[in-house]
Amino acid sequence: MKNPYRSAQFLQSAPTLAQCPEDTGAEVAFAGRSNAGKSSAINTLTGNKKMAKTSKTPGRTQLINLFALDCEQRRLVDLPGYGYAKVSKSLKQKWDQHLSEYLQGRVSLRGLVLLMDCRHPLQPFDTMMLDWSINRGMPVHILLTKSDKLAKGPAKSTLLKVQKQFQDQPQISAQLFSALKKEGIEELITQLNLWLYEQE
Ligand code: GDP
Repeated sequence: MKNPYRSAQFLQSAPTLAQCPEDTGAEVAFAGRSNAGKSSAINTLTGNKKMAKTSKTPGRTQLINLFALDCEQRRLVDLPGYGYAKVSKSLKQKWDQHLSEYLQGRVSLRGLVLLMDCRHPLQPFDTMMLDWSINRGMPVHILLTKSDKLAKGPAKSTLLKVQKQFQDQPQISAQLFSALKKEGIEELITQLNLWLYEQE
């Protein structure tokens, strides 16, 4: 299976859509509430602990962080985590605005990987991201993270419940994922490859 994710390189941080690199080529964005397991998933996917650390450097947590794959025309994008500590309402609104602008305006965006702790899926932030994506017809792949925290039966029934909720929306898919147990990586790579390498 094609796996260009292991050679991902930090490209650039950008506070707003306007400061992102030129909007050409193809990119896939990762988003999730803070603590959803986004850094762990990106580290597992890329096999590089420094990648997501870059995005957790104080000051960079509110930035859009971009990583180049085999070339700068194919990118992974780490969107700002959400729900950290006490941020003011006005700052939160600003983040919402940047996320919304990026999700709704970025032409090269092929799909969104939305990470949710499998024990608490579909929180208000997740629904907001899904609404924006659905409005734009943007495909979303939901990663139900930390699946090792649930027994097989409950994990499977969480997955089925989420899949059922979006059964009328074929552009929304979901899977279980565990960075700890390294489960679900191939399924994730298959989806990323489809968006980044197998579509015009
Ligand atoms: P982020 O804030 O979304 O980037 O989340 P992190 O990747 O930093 O993970 C948040 C917490 O969840 C950390 O304590 C991780 O060790 C833990 N975590 C992340 N992925 C997994 C997983 O697959 N299994 C378990 N058991 N814990 C995980």
